[in-house]
Amino acid sequence: MNFLTIKHLMLAALIVLSRPAFALHIMLDPGHGGIDTGAVHGQAREAELVLKVAQKLKTLLEKDANFKVTLTRQLDKNISLPHRVKMAEDAKADIFVSLHANAALDSRAKGVEFFFQNNLPPDEDALYLASQENQALLNSKELHKISGGDNLSKKGDVAAIIEDLHRQNRLQSSLRLSKTLTSVWSTDATAPQATIKQAPFYVISKTSMPSVLIEIGFLTNPREAKRLLNTEYQSDLAQKIYTALISYKEKMDNHTAKTLD
Ligand SMILES: [Zn+2]
Repeated sequence: MNFLTIKHLMLAALIVLSRPAFALHIMLDPGHGGIDTGAVHGQAREAELVLKVAQKLKTLLEKDANFKVTLTRQLDKNISLPHRVKMAEDAKADIFVSLHANAALDSRAKGVEFFFQNNLPPDEDALYLASQENQALLNSKELHKISGGDNLSKKGDVAAIIEDLHRQNRLQSSLRLSKTLTSVWSTDATAPQATIKQAPFYVISKTSMPSVLIEIGFLTNPREAKRLLNTEYQSDLAQKIYTALISYKEKMDNHTAKTLD
């Protein structure tokens, strides 16, 4: 059995292991809470707004047998970032979705942003934001380091391959989820522009499952702040995220079925 065969076998095993048994477990994370209000601008309070959207999304997900949903907080209380991650890990959630609202010095800044990140060490943040070619370079260097360089033991090989497959699987799934979200936004002409970004946010860096952090809009943009305070718009946001999660699950299920054929 050569190196590549081992890698393929492990990839197949990983896909089987990462396949949701029945319902896709979503850990929904409304950002901030309690003394940590998040961004505040006029009437708009980030912690309050994201909790409202999360509760609406929870209601939609609970009615659907394809999903299981847990919230990191249901009340206006402060929960540390490591605790949010721990909740997702302990629950063995399949997907982590963190909800936030943006603020900028420039009141013209607007739109919805989807952030995802893989498991690079924090001191590599600057490189992480670099071009795709630099990213590829970093990954191969990292793998080299994890696997113990040139003096590989057989065990080192295997550990490095598993580590790499986990990282690639998580990164690809997070990107797929972000793309699915933007495509839902782009089909609605009245919706604000949606963009995918990468940044070293704690909750999406430390969770081991595919994760996305959604900035639902800019509180500092008067038009967006007005919309975000509107209950119907909050429902629309929840519905869009729900639609994207349905589509993501379908893609994952099809992908798994095809890979295992
Ligand atoms: Zn926030």
